[in-house]
Amino acid sequence: MNADRNQNGFDVARLMRRDLRDMENYAVPFRRGPYKLDSNESPFGLPDALRRRLIAWLEDEKNEDLHLYPDGANTRLRGALAELWGVAPENVTCGVGSDQLIDGICRVFLEPGDGVVVLKPTFGMYAVSARLNHGKVREVPLRDGDVAEIVRAASDPRVKVVFLCSPNNPTGQSLTEGEICSVLSDVRCLVVVDEAYGEFARPTMIPRIRDYPNMIVLRTFSKAFGLAGARVGYAVAAAEAIDALDRAKPPFNLPTLSQLLATWAIEEWQEYSVRVAHLNERREELYRELEKIPWLEVSRSDANFLLVRSERDVGALLEENGIFVRRYPGADRVTCTRISVGTAEQNGKVVEVLCGAEPR
Ligand code: PMP
Repeated sequence: MNADRNQNGFDVARLMRRDLRDMENYAVPFRRGPYKLDSNESPFGLPDALRRRLIAWLEDEKNEDLHLYPDGANTRLRGALAELWGVAPENVTCGVGSDQLIDGICRVFLEPGDGVVVLKPTFGMYAVSARLNHGKVREVPLRDGDVAEIVRAASDPRVKVVFLCSPNNPTGQSLTEGEICSVLSDVRCLVVVDEAYGEFARPTMIPRIRDYPNMIVLRTFSKAFGLAGARVGYAVAAAEAIDALDRAKPPFNLPTLSQLLATWAIEEWQEYSVRVAHLNERREELYRELEKIPWLEVSRSDANFLLVRSERDVGALLEENGIFVRRYPGADRVTCTRISVGTAEQNGKVVEVLCGAEPR
């Protein structure tokens, strides 16, 4: 930055929004390796049927329309999602990952200084998007599913959006339908229910969009569907909320191939259900193994990851052994580490490293 300024007298930081100058980039390292358990991705590649369809599509000359812009209305994909969930296509919109929808919600609904209520801890992009869109974030610790504190925080008339993440990233616990409904009924703002890990937990709040016009449910193809590289997320809500959200939708946001892969993936729902059941079994297995380690505290999870706490920096230890995980350095001496559930072999390696380690 300084070097640039010295060369031509131009200081880009001076032009930047003042409130963002000290903001850190939400940078995620690009990592590849046999033990990549840091982003809650699926450990499985494309199902065979999907791979075959992709190859057939590429080989069919009629279908090679990548020189044209994609269908900006995502007609086929929205139709398939609407059918899957028993709603109308007007109840669905798609984004480049649910990240884009989280940002869209903040962009459309927040005036400068409006409040956003999030759980503490939770997925970091809610706060990032709120801040980028001039919102003020209020974090509410969630103790034993007591949602009264959330309702209290959201009763401030300047609060426009509450983000509930269920199961919550990184803690892994779900809110019950009753808890979510009591927030929905007791607040006058929008409530986003992020079900990014919903396939692992069930049930979904989607059918309740008819009862709660203030609810937006977010889902993604990045986790259970193993399509993180295609970047497809979607929102389901009352048609009016979707219409509002679409004001922020870039015209051709979702690439043709991403739309196709997600549409085909829905048709392989059966195969994905088997994978989800398998990963849930692996999660329970891993939980039981980690629970045996006396210097480690592991929380129950409804998602495809486990959060462990310990005085020892478990994340550093795993990474020294070639296992990528998500580390959350703590303010006190306790550190938290989120470990995605992988294959039996990947999980076995985690257990092997941790079982062989000393408490400090
Ligand atoms: N919500 C939650 C809770 C997440 O953990 C993630 C990804 N880590 C996302 C949304 C974003 O997912 P994507 O943009 O890949 O759909």
